Amino acid sequence: MDYKDLANLIFPDAKDISYYEEKYPERNLPEGAIVTRFAPSPTGFVHIGGLYQALVAREVAKKTGGVFFLRVEDTDQKREVENGVTGIVNSLKDFDMAPDEGMITDTEEIGNYGPYKQSLRKEIYQAYAKYLISQGKAYPCFCTPEEGEEIRKKQEAAKVRTGYYGVWAKCRNITVEEAYKKIENGESYIIRFKSPGREDRKIKHKDIIKGNVDFPENDQDIVIIKADGLPTYHFAHAVDDHLMRTTHVIRSDEWLSSVPLHLQLFHELGFKAPKYAHISPIMKNDNGNKRKLSKRKDPEAAVSYYKEEGIPVNAVKEYLLNIANSTFENWRRANPDKSMDEFDFQLNKMSVSGALFDMVKLLDIGKTVISKMTAEEVYENSLKWAEEYDKELLEMLQDKEYALRVFGIERGNKKPRKDISKWSEVKYNIEYMYDDKFYSKEQEYQYQVIADKEDIEKILNLYIEKYYNDNDDKQTWFDKIKELAGEMGYAKEVKEFKANPGMYKAHVGDVSTVLRIALTARANTPDMYEIMQVLGKDRIQKRFETAIKNLK
Ligand code: GLU
Repeated sequence: MDYKDLANLIFPDAKDISYYEEKYPERNLPEGAIVTRFAPSPTGFVHIGGLYQALVAREVAKKTGGVFFLRVEDTDQKREVENGVTGIVNSLKDFDMAPDEGMITDTEEIGNYGPYKQSLRKEIYQAYAKYLISQGKAYPCFCTPEEGEEIRKKQEAAKVRTGYYGVWAKCRNITVEEAYKKIENGESYIIRFKSPGREDRKIKHKDIIKGNVDFPENDQDIVIIKADGLPTYHFAHAVDDHLMRTTHVIRSDEWLSSVPLHLQLFHELGFKAPKYAHISPIMKNDNGNKRKLSKRKDPEAAVSYYKEEGIPVNAVKEYLLNIANSTFENWRRANPDKSMDEFDFQLNKMSVSGALFDMVKLLDIGKTVISKMTAEEVYENSLKWAEEYDKELLEMLQDKEYALRVFGIERGNKKPRKDISKWSEVKYNIEYMYDDKFYSKEQEYQYQVIADKEDIEKILNLYIEKYYNDNDDKQTWFDKIKELAGEMGYAKEVKEFKANPGMYKAHVGDVSTVLRIALTARANTPDMYEIMQVLGKDRIQKRFETAIKNLK
């Protein structure tokens, strides 16, 4: 009786691994093409750090004419939640990051290297486990959880490393005959890897991001197939990334310390190991303490947060690229109008320690991204967001033609308006252009330098009666405000006022402010000329009358 007999007893139906090696051949890709994957577990929460990894992995594949695929790692069925896969697939879609291969809905997939859901790959893992057993490189372990616990206690008492290794690995040396008998007797078991490693030897590993790292060899006989017949993460990683022909494993740096084990698994399975790039987590400054963005404490840790807030997809992606490669910022400054896809992303230039998440900066990028959009794009994005999150805004946007005129204010020129950082701010930023909204609440007019009620009333009346005309071009429009200022005894030029402050009550800018506040009840708005053009004389007049009434 030998290892082969034992392997056949345990996995009688498993295929020979040559079947899978042929079924999933090396990919036929151009030289230098990189194959990457995003491999989340469907636990119901897509972390911004996950999206960050996916963005980096996708970027690298795209740049080299390679493949980026999505694999669902659902072998820990206790942690799985309903709709977990849909959540992952939709998050990638929401960020225009749909994979080239892999899961595209909860149940459907594309690509020739599937199934891309680990729970559907049971027979593949078993074939490779069978192969290892037949080589004497894996074995059935009959230790119960209680025995495992006992071993651990003894190790702690003896002050040695815990785990299943060396002399502590009780089932490692069970003879084939003995194991055979136990299995025939119906004893339950799991499958462990028989590690050839020694803790007192070192391995050198060169990580693309972390650089050179030294580790002791792995000597733990880790579980490869669990009692439920599914593989552990480690084993599935080796089998899947080999058969899916991943060239670069880009993942969170919590896995860095598992590299010795993973390299060993690849070696014992006869696979060529992939290159590894371990990404540092996104950090948060919590009152001076740097800590990981936490699923429990930080709403911005969830990818869904960005969608709900309406932070533009491209702002989030640019921001992530910005923390991925610190050279991005300079590149963006030098190339304000290029698509971010043109940025020459470098995996090996990612920072070794975790970048701090900065919401202020993200929203600032949001402002720039939105400022570069056409009115039509702003409209479409706002509409899409409103459909899901804001019925009132949705209503406001029903008159598309008018909305386009509102969004068109100060847009498409050299210095476009930069007042909107996310779609959830649109309503506030356009509200005053809608009469029903404007008149539905008591407006507070906070006049500034010119606060004299009589003066304000005079300015408004004079302006609408004598100076305003819908057909004036911008220069004429402004010249008229200057004239009005002069007629009322204010300086027509700011310069004049500054030269002789004693001679005037205020200047033309202050007169403009009165008009602006009476018109919108706000001190800050985009270009007033354009606002007036959209409102037209009758609506302007009505707003002035309302403002005058409010003075009394
Ligand atoms: N399922 C693993 C995780 O979510 C994937 C790690 C990897 O990318 O290999 O942490």
